[in-house]
Amino acid sequence: MTVSDVPDEPLDDAGPYDYDLVVLGSGPGGQKAAIAAAKLGRKVAIIERRHMMGGVSVNTGTIPSKTLREAVMYLTGMAQREVYGASYRVKSDITMDDLFARTHHVIGREIEVIRAQLLRNHVDVLNGTGSFVDAHTLAVTEGGSAHPRTITGRFVVIATGSTPHRPDTVQFDERRVLDSDGVLALENVPTSIVVVGAGIIGIEYASMFAALGSRVTVVDKRPAMLEMCDPEVAESLKFHLRDLSVSFRFGEEVAGVDSNTHGTVTRLVSGKRIAADAVMYSAGRQGQTDALDLEKAGLTADSRGRITVDAQYRTAVAHIFAVGDVIGFPALAATSMDQGRLAAYHAFGEPARELQSVQPIGIYTIPEISYCGRTEEELTTSAVPYEVGIARYRELARGQIVGDSYGMLKLLVHTETRELLGVHIFGTLATDLVHIGQAIMACGGTVDYLVDTVLNYPTLSEAYKVAALDATNKIRQVARFSE
Ligand SMILES: Cc1cc2nc3c(=O)[nH]c(=O)nc-3n(C[C@H](O)[C@H](O)[C@H](O)COP(=O)(O)OP(=O)(O)OC[C@H]3O[C@@H](n4cnc5c(N)ncnc54)[C@H](O)[C@@H]3O)c2cc1C
Repeated sequence: MTVSDVPDEPLDDAGPYDYDLVVLGSGPGGQKAAIAAAKLGRKVAIIERRHMMGGVSVNTGTIPSKTLREAVMYLTGMAQREVYGASYRVKSDITMDDLFARTHHVIGREIEVIRAQLLRNHVDVLNGTGSFVDAHTLAVTEGGSAHPRTITGRFVVIATGSTPHRPDTVQFDERRVLDSDGVLALENVPTSIVVVGAGIIGIEYASMFAALGSRVTVVDKRPAMLEMCDPEVAESLKFHLRDLSVSFRFGEEVAGVDSNTHGTVTRLVSGKRIAADAVMYSAGRQGQTDALDLEKAGLTADSRGRITVDAQYRTAVAHIFAVGDVIGFPALAATSMDQGRLAAYHAFGEPARELQSVQPIGIYTIPEISYCGRTEEELTTSAVPYEVGIARYRELARGQIVGDSYGMLKLLVHTETRELLGVHIFGTLATDLVHIGQAIMACGGTVDYLVDTVLNYPTLSEAYKVAALDATNKIRQVARFSE
């Protein structure tokens, strides 16, 4: 069968293939595609390198970075200092071993859970690197074997994720000049570190090192950090990071990095030089497609290794789907999972609804940030009339109890329809709290729902009520003064 013979319509016959679905990669996208297809009663195989079960998400990305953060928060006593004093610490001399102990434990448990789920759903796990032999045949090579195993699949989902992008101008030495994968192999907490790239991953790590007491310098050629965030929220984080001695070099480009046994010197195009124990590059991500021999399946990737798909995650070859980081934005574990599940449904003709358009962004800095919906800038540009309602954690009983005096929640409310248009949160539990606003927005709810609803007390969720009252009081005042 050639590619052009593959019908667009899903077929029910198993055909002459070994599997109904072959999935490349066991990250969040691949796992969920495999399990969704298995739940539909299909025969599924997942190809993954032996040491990478769970993907980047479990091994080098989401899970290790979030577990490290938790360990940093706990051992430095960072979140408790307002209550017990500025010198409060659980451990004074924190080592990378202390931090990694928790990380290895969590990674191990996550891998066990994923393996058990695949096993329970009768998904065959094939260890090795997968590559296309033709549009329905995949070779699985392990340990450089000259005789790879080949398997055929009626449908294929490519979920091979991404790797850190490494600029050609920088020599990574895996000791002092690192990317976000390399950080996980650091032997000591650096006394000083330069973080190049003020995107989400860069700033998350910058805030962790700052909390550990490293002297951090953030360099980015853009004029500000986290430009997608509400400026007030980004400014609050910047203030916090400055307080932990983080310096920022925005609007500056790196010309090169020199490294020797003493340390590193980062040279900026402007002529400045920054000395530090280590440099961490966070310069975006590259789709992991090099090993796939895509052309044998009739596919290509762009210069950043990404594959183009349609709204159903179908590539240019009708029976091959792609999901997760390999298709680019938003490149989150959160979205990759749903993309995987939906790709499997579309392949097998299972009715599927599109994802809700209101999607949250979680930024696990210390303190954390989360938001969903529109920003003030977007609303102003599109001339949507809105009011702002603000709640400060220090005015919430729970804020005092947990020792968070800096947190805040901001609601953006349409002044005429009273719909919630955006939620922006900075502070403890922001990444969880955002889902309340998200649910109201997705259901087309108004600010009145929050005004009329009783919430548990004392909680941080109460911030919604306070912000809702703030917004509605302002709207009422404008109406009164306009009479
Ligand atoms: C430091 C960091 C922090 C992050 N934090 C968050 C966060 O807090 N929240 C969030 O939602 N997202 C976060 N992300 C992003 C998240 O990790 C990714 O979006 C997610 O892992 C992408 O999932 P995926 O299914 O595309 O594949 P990945 O998780 O990238 O996994 C792809 C897998 O495919 C395998 N593979 C590649 N090529 C082949 C081949 N030829 N044959 C067989 N297997 C192959 C790889 O070995 C890998 O295991 C973070 C990422 C990083 C780097």
